[in-house]
Amino acid sequence: MKIGFIGLGNMGAPMATNLAAAGHQVAGFDLVASCPRGVHPVQSAAEAAAGQDIVFTMLPDGKSLRCVADEILPAMAPRAVLVDCSTVEVDAARAVAAAAEAAGLGFLDAPVSGGVGGAVAGTLTFMVGGAQAAFAIASPLFRIMGQRVVHCGGAGNGQAAKICNNMILGVTMIATCEAFVLADRLGLDRQAMFDVVSTSSGSSWTMNAYCPAPGVGPHSPADNNYQPGFAAALMLKDLRLGQQAAQATDVDTPMGQAATALYQAFVKDEGGGGRDFSAMLPRFETRTRSG
Ligand code: NAD
Repeated sequence: MKIGFIGLGNMGAPMATNLAAAGHQVAGFDLVASCPRGVHPVQSAAEAAAGQDIVFTMLPDGKSLRCVADEILPAMAPRAVLVDCSTVEVDAARAVAAAAEAAGLGFLDAPVSGGVGGAVAGTLTFMVGGAQAAFAIASPLFRIMGQRVVHCGGAGNGQAAKICNNMILGVTMIATCEAFVLADRLGLDRQAMFDVVSTSSGSSWTMNAYCPAPGVGPHSPADNNYQPGFAAALMLKDLRLGQQAAQATDVDTPMGQAATALYQAFVKDEGGGGRDFSAMLPRFETRTRSG
């Protein structure tokens, strides 16, 4: 297939590389980052999009998605498909979907989980919103870049799945970290805590697969001095998107709100933005109930 790829940062570059390595013809553009090997560099987003069967974007936020979409939709070939893999507001995804439909083009929101490691290894999970016809066209390419693809329904539903998942993830990580510190202060050995919780009703992905306590459970960023992994700043971004959506739909999400406030303090006031999001454990270790 002829593919355009716009946004060649930490995630986009390895994703574009995997498409090119699978034998597709990929034209790439980024405002700053250089084009990875195997991807043909072009001079603008419009040039990357023109004449392609399918165009991927992997951008920082909804504002840059709207801006790139304004530029590329008029340049795209009739009936081509735009696939945005960035994590953005549900509203931004739905607005770009409507603009694409009005221009006679397909659109999918297809945010990912799996991080940079998953992008490099081609093992991402794609959660996809949009029409079945566009999904059928993009599916073989999702399977090159990822190992799991879930069609979540209409436009915006991929983003909805992503922010709901990450709201659960942020809340659960905080609960796991604070419980470890309570266990410490009660004199409970961390290995014993892991052995019980990971096989009991308190088990979760954050405990079982990504344990925030160093030296306990499978290898995780905690065993690498909390180098990300998934940076706390990115968790804060996703929690904020969740709160924005909850506000827009008037949904009461007290746990999501509390998690957002905690990650905000960690990232903005405590220099934690560049640490893995599981570094909430050493954060709680240094604190007491009064502060
Ligand atoms: P990044 O900042 O490394 O890459 C974004 C790239 O987009 C940058 O290179 C930037 O120069 C480029 N860009 C911005 N505006 C542009 C424009 N108008 N035209 C062309 N290029 C433009 O970010 P990333 O880590 O690759 O993340 C990309 C998206 O994926 C984000 O929405 C993020 O939330 C999401 N995500 C990231 C991870 C992760 O672990 N890094 C995991 C899951 C999802």
